[in-house]
Amino acid sequence: MIEFDQVQKSYEVGGRAIPALKATSMTVAAGEVFGIVGHSGAGKSTLVRLINLLERPTGGRILIDGKNVTDYNAEQLRGFRRKVGMIFQHFNLLSSKTVADNIAFPMKLAGIYSRQQIRDRVDELLARVGLSDHASKYPSQLSGGQKQRVGIARALACRPSILLCDEATSALDPQTTQSVLRLLADINRELGLTIVLITHEMDVVRRVCDRVAVMDAGEVVELGAVSDVFLHP
Ligand code: ADP
Ligand code: ADP
Repeated sequence: MIEFDQVQKSYEVGGRAIPALKATSMTVAAGEVFGIVGHSGAGKSTLVRLINLLERPTGGRILIDGKNVTDYNAEQLRGFRRKVGMIFQHFNLLSSKTVADNIAFPMKLAGIYSRQQIRDRVDELLARVGLSDHASKYPSQLSGGQKQRVGIARALACRPSILLCDEATSALDPQTTQSVLRLLADINRELGLTIVLITHEMDVVRRVCDRVAVMDAGEVVELGAVSDVFLHP
């Protein structure tokens, strides 16, 4: 599904190449919940930005559904991006738009959906994330957990096959974290989406992930089933 083949990334800083991801090969299977953990600066965000093609690798190839996406042109990129939904630590909602309009936004940007399709999809997603009664509210009127539910609905709008979660529960209290994780697990099970989840919270990994990669200084230092990786300290 997501295949890294000797993928490298370095950033050019003041004429010097700073390695952020050393040659990495790994595969995320279709339909799995894959965790990425590691300290700040380990390269987790770089890995995610490579998966959604916000960054191009400086070496190696990334294959998604068997296609080499690393040499996609601008138009192929636009189509590809709809297949990848993303949720964030601080939700990144548009404060001047209602809940419904936030969810509709990526569909409008895509320019390929009719107004009726957008309306139907927004209703369906509001129901899925339990916010049907909040469609006309603004983000500032919602709790953190509700905001992240809007973030999840928006990420799902264009029916992606991959959902990338960047510290998606780090700003939430433990109880809200639990309910958001339950929602993600339901989505994974019912829609068969592949979920890649970056976190620094071990508890989150134990609760929802099938497998986990531990990153340190730009390298995947461990990768395996959660129960295997966390048996040893
Ligand atoms: P938290 O309580 O926030 O989950 P932990 O004490 O479990 O924090 O972990 C702190 C940091 O150490 C995290 O950034 C995590 O990614 C990292 N870490 C935890 N376990 C391992 C491990 N087995 N190998 C490498 N890094 C780990
Ligand atoms: P993490 O998400 O685990 O905190 P990052 O992927 O953000 O790690 O960063 C990995 C390394 O790459 C760090 O040393 C960081 O300073 C560097 N880095 C990340 N983004 C950039 C950038 N845009 N320009 C230069 N260096 C960067």
